[in-house]
Parts: sequence; structure tokens; C-alpha cells
Amino acid sequence: MPRHLRVMALLVASVLSAGLLGPAPVPSASAGSGRQQDRASSHTFIAAPIARWDPCATIDYRLNLRHAPRGAATDVRRALRRVRAATGLRFSYAGRTRSVPGTRTEDRRHGADLVIAWVRPGHSSLLPAGSTYAGVGGPVYSAVGSVDRRGRTVSRIAWARVVISTTSNRSFRPGLGRGLRRVPLLMHEIGHAVGLGHAPAYDHAQIMSPTIRPGLNHWGAGDLAGLHRLGRAAGCIRQK
Ligand SMILES: [Zn+2]
Repeated sequence: MPRHLRVMALLVASVLSAGLLGPAPVPSASAGSGRQQDRASSHTFIAAPIARWDPCATIDYRLNLRHAPRGAATDVRRALRRVRAATGLRFSYAGRTRSVPGTRTEDRRHGADLVIAWVRPGHSSLLPAGSTYAGVGGPVYSAVGSVDRRGRTVSRIAWARVVISTTSNRSFRPGLGRGLRRVPLLMHEIGHAVGLGHAPAYDHAQIMSPTIRPGLNHWGAGDLAGLHRLGRAAGCIRQK
């Protein structure tokens, strides 16, 4: 049954200069314990302190569409438009790639900041054989050498990857609308790629809920509040 395919955060949290960080998502400081839905506090970040892109630079992305369903590039554009609207982050298409995240080809990203690839389970370490995840996504970031406009050290995302399982090709339909759709799936995984963790599992009003709710096509209040803190409103990042 594809109704409740889980969507997993690939919590790749490498500090580029200092090995690996722990993979646990970090609740936002204001996360409440109530069970009401669609609260602005209903979001988490992949890293603490928050890891984010430099919003004053353009994020170049490449697509590996070798195993993608028809229309996948359009779905990506629509998802990125919604990420941009919520964050102010700018994305620029840099072309196709053969790079497969989670394999030895990954270091051949051809300079792209973000790679989005459709991959068969078992063909990437990020998506083991038999995996029922519809996708994984996450950034690689460094907590060294970057500061915000006040000179405070910040964690800057250096690059990110999104892997969509080919098992989703049939269970997710293109675009937006009723049922399981590819644009919300991509919004979820790109949400990880820009620094969001999962919303609480009970809050199905969030795109970043760990389980995709069929028919959910828009960011929830928690998604939007988290994305706001990861985008232009947080200010430029510069090298120290
Ligand atoms: Zn996820």
C-alpha cells in the first residue's frame, strides 16, 4: 500500500572539516508539546546551531533524470518555486548530471550545489535495497569559517543531495492534487536539503511530517516558520 510510504530525512550532517556530527534532528526552541495541528512551532532543523545556505548566493542544481518519470523536471521546478517563495533562496538549473548521490560518482557533481536524482533502491548507499522510503534528502554543512552580518559564526550548507526512489514513480502522480503527488514529495526532500528536519509525526498538516499525507499540497504553518528562519530573512553569510 503506497498510502503511507515513509519519507525519511537523510540527516547527513558532516562537518566538512571535522568529521561527522550526530544524526539526530533538533527540535526548534519553541516546539510545543501540545497536539494541535498546524502550529508555527511545528518544525525542526537538521542542525544546531541552524545550518543554512548563504541566501545571497544562487544555488545551482543538476538533475539525474535517467530513472525519472516523465515530467520530473517540471515537478522539480514547481517544488523549487515553492521553496523559493518560502525562503527567498534562489535556484538556478545547471543541467543534467550522471552523478548518483551515495555512490562513487558523487564526487563528480560537476560543480552543482544541489543534485536531485531518481535512483533504484540498492543503487545508492542512501537508499538500500528493499527500502520503502520514497526519498531522502539532506545537506552537508560546515560549522567552520563562516559568519553572519554581525560576525557571529554560522553553519553554512556547502552542498546537498536529494534521492527519489524509483519505487515512487508509480505510486506518486505528477504535479499537485489529490492522492500522493510528486511536487509535495520533492518539497519535503528539498526541505531537508535547505536545513529542515521532520515536524512532529502527529502533525500531518506539515509537508515536513515524516509521513506524507495524500492530498497535502501546501506548506503548513510550521514548515513556513522554519523555512523563514533558513532563508533571506536570516541574512547573508560570508567567509571569515
Ligand atoms: Zn523526511
